[in-house]
Amino acid sequence: MKISNSEKRLRQPIVVVLGHVDHGKTTLLDKIRGTTVVKKEPGEMTQEVGASFVPSYIIEKLAEPLKKVIPIKLQIPGLLFIDTPGHEYFSNLRRRGGSVADIAILVVDITEGLQKQSIESIQILRERKVPFLIAANKIDKIPGWKSTNDIPFLASIEKQRNDVKVYLDNLVYNLVSQLANLGFSAERYDRIKDFTKTVAIVPVSAKTGEGVADLLALLAGLTQRYLETRLKFAEGPAKGVILEVKEDPGLGHTIDVIIYDGVLKKNDTIILGGINGIIITKVRGIFVPRPLQDMKLSKYDLTPIDEVYAAAGVKISAPNLEEALAGSPLYVIEDESKVEQYKQQIEEEIKEVRLYSDID
Ligand code: GDP
Repeated sequence: MKISNSEKRLRQPIVVVLGHVDHGKTTLLDKIRGTTVVKKEPGEMTQEVGASFVPSYIIEKLAEPLKKVIPIKLQIPGLLFIDTPGHEYFSNLRRRGGSVADIAILVVDITEGLQKQSIESIQILRERKVPFLIAANKIDKIPGWKSTNDIPFLASIEKQRNDVKVYLDNLVYNLVSQLANLGFSAERYDRIKDFTKTVAIVPVSAKTGEGVADLLALLAGLTQRYLETRLKFAEGPAKGVILEVKEDPGLGHTIDVIIYDGVLKKNDTIILGGINGIIITKVRGIFVPRPLQDMKLSKYDLTPIDEVYAAAGVKISAPNLEEALAGSPLYVIEDESKVEQYKQQIEEEIKEVRLYSDID
């Protein structure tokens, strides 16, 4: 697949989900993935390794009823969600000067407000300079709330009694004041004038799907508007981060990698961090899950591809990956003379990974 106009192309933003235990991270991710499974066009691949892709046309379709509030014409190809939620995993998504994640969803049970791990997540996001919005989850639990499955929040709120609307507002303002104590200005998203200064709160129910359309539209709209420079696709050698090191039947040791920039090709020489030092090896195979298969990866669920464009989640097989280090950066070496430079860079970055994993 050749892509023309690459200078103008934006890659898909990488989205992570964080939040306190039991606040609904997994349920929300499942719901978001569900939007693509149901409406997927035949043969289209939305499942990647360690991540799920939600194409733009689905977001546009879901956001259609919201176009007065969130007028979006999407230039990004879609959104790439990291499948594993939580801040422990997020620690592995480092890149120089920040995170591989372009934006985060902080899931907060609206009936409980910010809890210990919500605050820890905010601290890590702030430290890594990742912008975030808040999914104020479990609105269906509000006393008197009448749910309609899978409608936008702005449609659902119209159907509620006045006292229920007031109840919701009180919960939202409880969250606003908790965030103010942490130094953030926050507001319900449909009341925000300047999104660069205010954290958006999107009331949702991961259980009923209410508000998921608003959440996706806002993620897409905000990233393409405010992160344009960061999302410009570079046609150069791939840069990535290792999510996990695994032993796969028939493939030997493999690494699951998020490619956040450039192009990765079969037979590329890659450099990455290992437990006992830098590893330089050659890509033997690049794999993605076979379309329409179960998400559990085994040998038979994977299909080989020759090259992949950022942003994407793929499995790489190559010699000498036994000691590869999760959380390490990975670069394609195009020019042999740069090996030393990459070595030093990776060594420095790994020191940081170790430092942070001790703290986390
Ligand atoms: P996680 O630990 O943050 O991943 O939370 P889970 O997604 O596992 O959810 C924890 C519990 O909350 C489960 O029993 C979910 O069914 C429930 N839950 C999640 N989202 C909602 C929601 O929007 N409404 C209601 N009523 N329950 C929810």
